[in-house]
Amino acid sequence: MSKRPSEKPDDLRRRNFLRGLAGAGGAAAAFAALDRLEAEPEHAAAALARAAATVPQTVTEAGDNADVLIRMQADLARALKKQPAERRWVMVIDLRKCVGCHACTIACVAENKLPPGVVYRPVIEEEIGEYPNVTRRFIPRPCMQCENPPCVPVCPVYATYTNAEGVVEVNYEQCIGCRACLTACPYGVRRRQRPR
Ligand code: SF4
Ligand code: SF4
Repeated sequence: MSKRPSEKPDDLRRRNFLRGLAGAGGAAAAFAALDRLEAEPEHAAAALARAAATVPQTVTEAGDNADVLIRMQADLARALKKQPAERRWVMVIDLRKCVGCHACTIACVAENKLPPGVVYRPVIEEEIGEYPNVTRRFIPRPCMQCENPPCVPVCPVYATYTNAEGVVEVNYEQCIGCRACLTACPYGVRRRQRPR
């Protein structure tokens, strides 16, 4: 939606929030509040509060046939009920569906503000089969988040560590650029880039 000249940032935030509520729960009340917000902006705060009160704040259960986003919310709610040490986060990539478009590579570059030539998530391409029955296979290669990550114990300054939820992280402020983790990582995931 384009921003109207008279709209203030707060109005936009409220409008987007209400649209999110309506999309997540199909909440008629949220749509009604959205209509009122557009017609009578002075009542926006009261309308927002009433709409929010009618929508469940957290989806905790979802059947197998529920929308994938609803199931993800329910999974997240279940995970967050556990203690950090009992949580295990995974990223699953269905290689059968990957078409090698590199959109994930670009998204990662944008998210991490990487300089030209540096990617954290390349997509490896290879040709398989025998002529004339050949095809191409694409393998996105993020950090594998190893269960026993060899990059962690080699770090002399503990810049690489496994957090309380089992996620391998790097403290960039603490890193001294010794490259020990580059050598230790069996997947060639680590990259060293010069300070910007
Ligand atoms: S390059 Fe940085 S993160 Fe890697 S081992 Fe050396 S200090 Fe640790
Ligand atoms: S950087 Fe390499 S060794 Fe460390 S967790 Fe990721 S894939 Fe495993």
